Amino acid sequence: MKRVSIVVPVYNEEDNITHFAQNIAAVMAALPYDYELLFIDDGSRDRSREILLALGARDAHVQSIFLARNSGHQIALTCGIDHADGDAVITMDGDMQHPPELLPVLLARWEAGAEIVQTVRLTTEGVSPFKRFTSKYYYRLLNALSDVNIQEGGSDFRLMDRKAVLALRRYREHARFIRGIVGAMGFRRETVEFVAQERFAGQSKFSLHKMISFALDGILAYSVQPLRVSFYVGMLSALIAVLLFLHVLFETLRGETVPGWSTIVVCSLFFGGMQMMMLGVCGEYIARILQEVKNRPLYLIASDNRKGADGR
Ligand code: UDP
Ligand code: MG
Repeated sequence: MKRVSIVVPVYNEEDNITHFAQNIAAVMAALPYDYELLFIDDGSRDRSREILLALGARDAHVQSIFLARNSGHQIALTCGIDHADGDAVITMDGDMQHPPELLPVLLARWEAGAEIVQTVRLTTEGVSPFKRFTSKYYYRLLNALSDVNIQEGGSDFRLMDRKAVLALRRYREHARFIRGIVGAMGFRRETVEFVAQERFAGQSKFSLHKMISFALDGILAYSVQPLRVSFYVGMLSALIAVLLFLHVLFETLRGETVPGWSTIVVCSLFFGGMQMMMLGVCGEYIARILQEVKNRPLYLIASDNRKGADGR
């Protein structure tokens, strides 16, 4: 029998885990697969841990790995993908926004030969207009800037054949934007659309800060356009400076030098600001180089509670 791994990163999801696991069990019971439901606890500080351990004791399908600290959704997902042993690996969120009823559809596409089945979120119920707007235009911007094509509404709810999983495991970059990596990997792919429901319980674990840093990772990891744009902006401001210089020369020849102080102030402000901005852009890339060069482990595991795993 083929084995399916369902990888679910969770961070403070005490009110969702049990409900989610019940739904998965109900869906998988009707399908002819052996499966594991692999939770990656991303350093939760609520009762998620106890709930996961209790579930695992009751249901042999439920496995869990506990990370040493909160490392973020993409890293938790990576840990899950690294440890999943199924012939197909499905990654999804544990808050019911990725509907378990879609699993049979993904698996059918896989059986029909697809190696990556990517889901695309059409709309999300109950999401703020702000998040909807930023998400939509973010993907447009990202696609315009980089050469990888990331679908608008593309989510980390996808099925990957073992071949694709082994390929994905070879990407060890730290600033991870898994959507982008998978998008650039190739393989035979298909997409399935879905409407995301509201969260079953609790609140989104993505603060505005996390959202911005995730968005920057996506752009800076897949595009050097910001560097290029700042080069063009630099050229443009140099051109403006030449024109201003001609203007200043003209005024000087006319003998009206004193009123020129305003031009000087405006110029130094303008170019000072420009330079700081470009330095900032370079700095973002250098910071990422530093992070990659240090090559620290992507995640640390506090305990591995998979059956048959070390420490069990
Ligand atoms: N998550 C995680 N680590 C984090 C933040 C979130 O493992 O630092 C998990 C979270 O528990 C959920 C999934 O990632 O299962 C998606 O998070 P969330 O629902 O908060 O994101 P949203 O749906 O609002 O984009
Ligand atoms: Mg969610």
